[in-house]
Amino acid sequence: MPSNSSSSTSYHSSPNPSVMCLCGIRAPLRTSSSEDNPGRRFFGCINYKEYNGCTYFDWFDAPTCARGMDYGRKMVRKNLALEAQIAEFKKTNEAHIAKLKKSNESLIERIEELLMINEEQKHKMGRQRVVLEALTKKSTVYEANCYKMKIALLVLFLVVICLWVKPYDVV
Ligand SMILES: [Zn+2]
Repeated sequence: MPSNSSSSTSYHSSPNPSVMCLCGIRAPLRTSSSEDNPGRRFFGCINYKEYNGCTYFDWFDAPTCARGMDYGRKMVRKNLALEAQIAEFKKTNEAHIAKLKKSNESLIERIEELLMINEEQKHKMGRQRVVLEALTKKSTVYEANCYKMKIALLVLFLVVICLWVKPYDVV
């Protein structure tokens, strides 16, 4: 993969070098995740995937020792497993969010329904209050009439008593 034969010894030692590739743009420093060079950093053109694209390539890190290679491979595998786990978590999370959203929507619908019922009940109660007020008014009039009737009956009763008693007084 290196672009020239001297690649094995042309790696850089500067911590943050600015390297220009064959296209004349800055080649970004990237990290290999391949089994052959796990974790080894390199400069590669961003256009390398394109047809007839730039083939610039240069290692940044020195070749890794056998122990480092083993460790790096393990790390790469671990990283891939973690990425898969994260993707799974994301999926589960999205499913939970969708479920919560749906639940929230149905709750909002239920609240709106209850608000409508409440409004209807308020109107109903208003109408019933009007009927009750009318009935109370009627009841008051009826009570007043009853009272008048009682007085009239009492007067009538007294008149009858007087008329019934008077003839004996004359005798
Ligand atoms: Zn390039």
